[in-house]
Amino acid sequence: MPLISKASSAPAAAEVPFFDRARETAPLETLRGWQWERLASGFADVLGSNAFWRARLHAAGIRDPRDLASWADFAKLPRLTKGELAADQAAAPPFGTNLTYPLDRYVRVFQTSGTTGPPIRWLETDASWTWWARCWAMVFRAAGLGPGDRLFFPFSFGLFVGFWAGLEGATARRKRFGLRRHFAIAPWSDRVEVYWRDGCEAYVTPVAEDEVGVAMLWSGEGGRFECLLERFPDLARRLASAPVASRDRGAGPFHRRARAAVRGRIALVGDAAGYVDAITGEGLALAFREAQALATSVAGGGLVRYAAEARRWRRLPETLTRLLLIAERRPRLRRRLFATLERDPRLFARLLAVHCRAVPASRLGVGAAVRLAGVVVGV
Ligand SMILES: Cc1cc2nc3c(=O)[nH]c(=O)nc-3n(C[C@H](O)[C@H](O)[C@H](O)COP(=O)(O)OP(=O)(O)OC[C@H]3O[C@@H](n4cnc5c(N)ncnc54)[C@H](O)[C@@H]3O)c2cc1C
Repeated sequence: MPLISKASSAPAAAEVPFFDRARETAPLETLRGWQWERLASGFADVLGSNAFWRARLHAAGIRDPRDLASWADFAKLPRLTKGELAADQAAAPPFGTNLTYPLDRYVRVFQTSGTTGPPIRWLETDASWTWWARCWAMVFRAAGLGPGDRLFFPFSFGLFVGFWAGLEGATARRKRFGLRRHFAIAPWSDRVEVYWRDGCEAYVTPVAEDEVGVAMLWSGEGGRFECLLERFPDLARRLASAPVASRDRGAGPFHRRARAAVRGRIALVGDAAGYVDAITGEGLALAFREAQALATSVAGGGLVRYAAEARRWRRLPETLTRLLLIAERRPRLRRRLFATLERDPRLFARLLAVHCRAVPASRLGVGAAVRLAGVVVGV
């Protein structure tokens, strides 16, 4: 086991930490549905290009992905023994025929220790390696570890997958995604409503006299609008009979970094120049500002000025977004923050004014900075 240096105290029972709450707390039936979806989506690939599994599936009478329609068909799948993998690799060294993709798709190679038979080699794609890291990340998080904790791995590593995957999992980040849907229903407020639960937020925006837009932002996977909406029972009830008035549109994973906004004669504007998250409702304003700055820079004879302007415009919104994301990851901190803003609406108004650039950040004031620092340290 990795040696753990625990910086934070154990989580309270009410605050069991999840890496991907939606997935880890889904009802069993929903989980089995997702598991089947994943399994089934691999059948076409495997039957198409994996010689090892194709032969075995054909022998079991499975020639088409449609031969496996549901969990009831699971028992049709042939059992696999370690000896069969070893024999296959001995016959077609070094990796055998159990390969679904060309070799250049694989990004990691591992090997079993050989304690009870010949060592077996194993390849991982980018996607499967990410999956390993997520599995470990869930284990670490369930053990109460999070940002700020330090893990020491006193392993000899070698080619054993477990140690490397653990190390990868220790640095895995939850990815954030966004999805929006419009509903044909008269807005019940002229404000944007924000509902915030652990791992998922819902933003309700009145967009017309008879329409509201609902944007979901969440961490992890499992991004179906219906499943996300279930996490906000009040909102779900309100929208239950409202007809859907749009196609779902989404984006993610959010966090994208561009090394530079300008290279040679190419300039990047908006999300293409980098994006942190939609949590502050930012994005469009920045894209418009950058487009304007780019036009001014080009009219002035070059892109150098634009490169500097883009960096300048991004500094404040990206900082505020990062700060809010810290609250997104730490439910206790978030509750303290909301309680403080509820008690002190003027502080909230001032923060909003800074965010909207109605006033410069320097006008936030010492008192506000102290109160926010108090939220962070919990006093
Ligand atoms: C759920 C959600 C809610 C959000 N809410 C808000 C909000 O309330 N307020 C706000 O300001 N921002 C919000 N944002 C962020 C905002 O949508 C983006 O920051 C903004 O759209 C960025 O604009 P853009 O023009 O840079 O990129 P995009 O809007 O992504 O436009 C890029 C366009 O280029 C096209 N394209 C891509 N590749 C090619 C190609 N090779 N050839 C041709 N076309 C191509 C794409 O199809 C797309 O149409 C939200 C984002 C999400 C996901």
